[in-house]
Amino acid sequence: MKIAYKGGLVYFQNKFQEDHIIYSDKGVITDILAAQNLSHYQGFRLVDLSDQILIPGTVNTHNHSFQSLVRGFSDDVPFEKWRDEGIYKFSKKLDANGIYTGALLAFTEMVKYGVTTVCDFFYINNHGNDNARAVIEAARDVGIRLVLARAMYDWSGAPQTYQETPQEAQKNCLELIREFENNPMVSIYPAPHSLHAASPDMIMAGLEISKKKKIFLHMHIAEAQYEVKQVKKRFGKTPIKYLNSLGVCSPKLVGVHCVWVNDDEIEIMASTGVKVSYNPASNMFLGDGVTPILKFLKKGIVVGLGSDGACSNNRTSVFDEMRTTSLLQKVTHLDGSVCPAEESFKMGTKNGGTVLGLPMGELKKGYQCDFVGLKMNDISLQPFKKKNLIKNIVYALAPWAIESVAVHGKLLKEKGKVISISEEEVRRKVAELTRVW
Ligand SMILES: [Zn+2]
Repeated sequence: MKIAYKGGLVYFQNKFQEDHIIYSDKGVITDILAAQNLSHYQGFRLVDLSDQILIPGTVNTHNHSFQSLVRGFSDDVPFEKWRDEGIYKFSKKLDANGIYTGALLAFTEMVKYGVTTVCDFFYINNHGNDNARAVIEAARDVGIRLVLARAMYDWSGAPQTYQETPQEAQKNCLELIREFENNPMVSIYPAPHSLHAASPDMIMAGLEISKKKKIFLHMHIAEAQYEVKQVKKRFGKTPIKYLNSLGVCSPKLVGVHCVWVNDDEIEIMASTGVKVSYNPASNMFLGDGVTPILKFLKKGIVVGLGSDGACSNNRTSVFDEMRTTSLLQKVTHLDGSVCPAEESFKMGTKNGGTVLGLPMGELKKGYQCDFVGLKMNDISLQPFKKKNLIKNIVYALAPWAIESVAVHGKLLKEKGKVISISEEEVRRKVAELTRVW
């Protein structure tokens, strides 16, 4: 489908450029040109978004979509109670249909917030791939781009439906990868859950897939202090040091959280090219701590943003994470000049593409045509000045200013309303599923 979107301002080449048109063919940007060059392009349907600022779609590098269903069920409690009485209790009730409904809820809300790609770290695999396929189906129905980090989990303390043997997990993961190979809307990556929920054998099984298929490996690392103590006791090393001794640290490893890593480990991460998914609101919600991202950035470690599951945030907006990122670093370092808006904006867009290994997060030729249109005259962006715009997008933007959202060249939200799916229908499905919870 050849389609062109004209924006009042378009953010590309790191600046806002007036009256430009984004040309998209088969979901990919073929050009971005000043509006007067329109005559060069015949056969494109022109959509006029001149009252909007077109910016790259935001990338949510970490989420657990089913957790949207338990939002508000187990808040303001210590970690174990949060996990057992929220996630564990309710995830046992979920079949493929429930998982589909949870993913619909999560993805529809995210599209509303301007998320164009989400990485769903999915671990209720129930010895197969039918549940993961339900998540993929929900992403397709909503129209969002999906990276499914297929979890590999063998800690016996968790619900049965999470657990597999390393052989089983490897076989299932490979099967799912093959099923969705070369699909621009779905990528499958292996994801040994963490050092507390995946045995060394399971981690090696995931690493083997990542090496064989040359794809990324996602893993929760050093989220809370207890994990570091546990890993030290069990393996005699801190998490990153231990993972490095297994050969896991590489440019293909995406470490989710990495809150409790010491300076030596940051050196290892930088020298081996490890990437980070940073989830500031979730880390604050669960009382985990403050990730040393300024040290990461100084060493050149790529940091993308994630909302994490909606029961530990409890929002799913990457714009919110941008704001939280900058504010949390300022108060931690007692310095209002650190982590400026431009840095957080980059983490929520361009770096997200790098962390997920896909050509997106920037508006440029050859990249996916995923963008967000912000209403120029929205009250939350006034006074309207091009020079202050990134600051106002990160610190002041209200969700109702998100007028359009496009993924793969197709509008999913138009004039402030999600058009790819009925919100009312999603709400009704969620109410039905959770009626007796
Ligand atoms: Zn997580």
